[in-house]
Order: sequence, then structure tokens, then C-alpha cells
Amino acid sequence: MSSTTVVKDPVCGMDINTASAAQHTEHAGQTYYFCCSKCKEKFDHNPAQYLGKNAAAPKSACGCCS
Ligand SMILES: [Zn+2]
Repeated sequence: MSSTTVVKDPVCGMDINTASAAQHTEHAGQTYYFCCSKCKEKFDHNPAQYLGKNAAAPKSACGCCS
């Protein structure tokens, strides 16, 4: 019950509890979690945009949580 893991949604930057994440996908052997299907779709469409060295660039709000 106490083993909750919180990660960042790579698309919008929200904190995501992996146990209750709405969506997740695997990319390059790693699992990424998302707050909603829109974020997952954006990530699947262009993962590099959210994972590259420029990942520190301003995140785009996903619309469902902003
Ligand atoms: Zn999101």
C-alpha cells in the first residue's frame, strides 16, 4: 500500500502516480506514464521531442489537466 512511485508525465510535466496512471507506454525499454490519453498520443507520435537533450524546454500543456 505504501509503495507508490511518482514520476513525471514527460509531455505536460505533471506528477503521475504509476499505480494510478491513466496511460502508459514503453519506449526504448523504459515505461513512461501519462495523465491522459492525449499526452500518450503526443508522446507516441514524437518521443524524441520529450526525451531529447532539449527535454528541459517548456512542456506543452495537454489540455486535460491545465
Ligand atoms: Zn499530461
